[in-house]
Amino acid sequence: MASDHAARSIRSQIPMRTIPASCDVAVIGGGPAGSSAAALLARAGFEVVLLERARHPRPTVGESLIPHFWKYTDLTGATPLIEAEGFVAKAGGITVWEGEIRRISFADFGFRRPALHVERDVFDHLLLRHASDCGARVFEEVSVTAVEPAAQSPRLHYQDRCGGETVRGELRCRYLIDASGASALLARHFKVRHLARSRHQFLSFWGYFQDSRFVGADGRGYPGDRLGAVRPVTFVRSYEDGWIWHIPLRRVTSVGLVVYRNRALAMSGTERQTYFLDTCARVPYLRELLAPARFVEGSLSGRPDFSYYVDTVARENCYLIGDAGGFVDPIFSHGVLNAFYSASLAALAIGESLRDPARRDRHAQLCARRIRQFYSFSRALALGDVGANGVDLESVKGFMRSVPRRELELMLAASLLTRRTRHFRTLVAAAGLAAHIESRIEALAQLRL
Ligand SMILES: Cc1cc2nc3c(=O)[nH]c(=O)nc-3n(C[C@H](O)[C@H](O)[C@H](O)COP(=O)(O)OP(=O)(O)OC[C@H]3O[C@@H](n4cnc5c(N)ncnc54)[C@H](O)[C@@H]3O)c2cc1C
Repeated sequence: MASDHAARSIRSQIPMRTIPASCDVAVIGGGPAGSSAAALLARAGFEVVLLERARHPRPTVGESLIPHFWKYTDLTGATPLIEAEGFVAKAGGITVWEGEIRRISFADFGFRRPALHVERDVFDHLLLRHASDCGARVFEEVSVTAVEPAAQSPRLHYQDRCGGETVRGELRCRYLIDASGASALLARHFKVRHLARSRHQFLSFWGYFQDSRFVGADGRGYPGDRLGAVRPVTFVRSYEDGWIWHIPLRRVTSVGLVVYRNRALAMSGTERQTYFLDTCARVPYLRELLAPARFVEGSLSGRPDFSYYVDTVARENCYLIGDAGGFVDPIFSHGVLNAFYSASLAALAIGESLRDPARRDRHAQLCARRIRQFYSFSRALALGDVGANGVDLESVKGFMRSVPRRELELMLAASLLTRRTRHFRTLVAAAGLAAHIESRIEALAQLRL
């Protein structure tokens, strides 16, 4: 009761607000995809309204960022905010995959700016505030309940819970961006969302530990209080039921299990926590890292419905970006990158279409093709889905032709850290990189920990 009362009195201090009835671009969802698209379009001078179900900072998973994400935050102007926050800078990744230990260092690929481990509640909040500072009108605690796409003017129905009571409303727009993450509102509306049929189907559950040791760039274990002095890596290892991540953050360490779906479905909520803690205490290397650590009670979360793809990610005046357009097992940390990438493409296509409506469908087609290419590449690498689940080799090749060389090399080489799929050689040959990449692979020399 006391906390209800506190929440009400905080809400009563929030000034009354009016959600407009119409705008140029409506964005559903204020994760990295929605906030970035909103920032770019608002900076270009368009009227943007972003509706976000939660109030930020809201908890979410996905803390490991690979180093080429900076070019997108440079584009939106969010870079100085992220730099000022002082997130953990990481040097690379170390994996123990089926007994083999490998290391990748981002510097070997020519990256000078660090990759990061970020608390996603903080990171996403920065991006959302930045969208607002760029001129997008951001409304939190507003759930979109239905979408009515239409050739001229799509319409959204929403429920606004800010201020304590629920107010229903409608918003019309010229362009609609669905960045609602796993809710995938438009894909479900159009019935174009498919659960992947794959031998790699997972559920994930994750939790947080205090005072964990971490793995440094040299492959050695360090106590948590050395995090400011020694650059960490993301530590990943396979085990009999799937794979595990260990990501040191500033105050806690994120540990997650990505578990074969059939194995995980059989467990109740309590059994999942027991299984999670048992696995953390049992699996070599992880066990040593967590030996001095304490589990943060109540921090276990999970995510079902893991792997899906969407047939059409842009049509006429509707765009599906980030996780709303597809989701791939997060083993290579492509999720936030893809959110930024698809947001930048959608913002470009919508901006051009607003300026020259006659070319609207052409822009949507081009954008859809580029976004699909990234999803396809990620699926091909992480899940080996070439020829299945909406992935064809031409699409993957299209992505590899358009991406800067060092980014492609890093993503391909990172896939060698695991033995998840056998597509590395096929993709390297298709990209014409076979000779060039060999020298990079030497950097993945096996390690002894
Ligand atoms: C277990 C796991 C581990 C991961 N690890 C990594 C990682 O290490 N690195 C990485 O890069 N990626 C990782 N990812 C993926 C990454 O988290 C996502 O790709 C990324 O968050 C996608 O951003 P987004 O903006 O598309 O969606 P989200 O971040 O999910 O944001 C969607 C937003 O939409 C809002 N919303 C939803 N429905 C509605 C509605 N009806 N009305 C209004 N608002 C709505 C939500 O509240 C949310 O804020 C991981 C994912 C999982 C599941």
